[in-house]
Amino acid sequence: MITLDNVSKTYGSGSQAIHALKPTNLHVPQGAIHGVIGLSGAGKSTLIRCVNLLERPTTGRVFVDGQELTALDAKALNQARHRVGMIFQHFNLLSSRTVFANVALPLELMGVAKREIRDRVQPLLDLTGLSDKVDKYPAELSGGQKQRVAIARALASRPKVLLCDEATSALDPQTTASILELLQDINRKLGLTILLITHEMEVVKTICHKVGLISAGELVEEADVGDFFTAP
Ligand code: ADP
Ligand code: ADP
Repeated sequence: MITLDNVSKTYGSGSQAIHALKPTNLHVPQGAIHGVIGLSGAGKSTLIRCVNLLERPTTGRVFVDGQELTALDAKALNQARHRVGMIFQHFNLLSSRTVFANVALPLELMGVAKREIRDRVQPLLDLTGLSDKVDKYPAELSGGQKQRVAIARALASRPKVLLCDEATSALDPQTTASILELLQDINRKLGLTILLITHEMEVVKTICHKVGLISAGELVEEADVGDFFTAP
């Protein structure tokens, strides 16, 4: 579902160059929950942002759902991004919009008709447990509730892939557990493929099927999650 072929990212050039991601191959099959764990500065954000080309790779090719994103022009890429949802550590909600309007935003941008937007947003609010928060503003919500809104918004365009950039790092352990449960639910019920990056072992242990370790821009080890944590 996600394939990175020799993808690297260098910021800057010459003596200023930072090789944030060394040439990397990664394959995440459909329906998997794949984790990449590493310390701060290891290149996790760069890796995940290369998947939907929020960061343009310096080398290599990115495929999602059989389509090469790195070969698309701006308009086609915009279309293709509908199939790749993303959530972030700090939620990135619009503070001037209600829960409903935040979730509806991607559909508005896609030009979906008002009535269809209503029909599509309501089930997402049910799925994410936000049915009684429809008219609240982000400032009135807890961190966990805000992340639920962000998840609902990410699902609005019916993506096949969900990218999670440190999605639980700003949350307390109990809230983290409930968000991870929701992500698992989404993986099972909707068949969504999930790629997540984190610095937290617990996240990887709880929901990932496979995990890779990234260190100094290099994806150095990949294993099934059971093997990854078992002593030899
Ligand atoms: P992580 O997500 O694991 O903390 P990042 O991918 O954010 O790591 O960063 C990897 C390296 O690339 C770090 O040295 C970071 O400072 C650098 N870096 C990240 N983004 C940029 C950027 N836009 N410009 C220059 N350097 C960057
Ligand atoms: P997060 O909030 O997800 O941890 P960071 O605070 O590490 O992200 O980085 C925020 C933004 O700054 C990201 O878009 C990242 O690519 C960029 N960035 C990170 N390190 C650098 C750097 N050394 N130079 C320029 N931009 C950077």
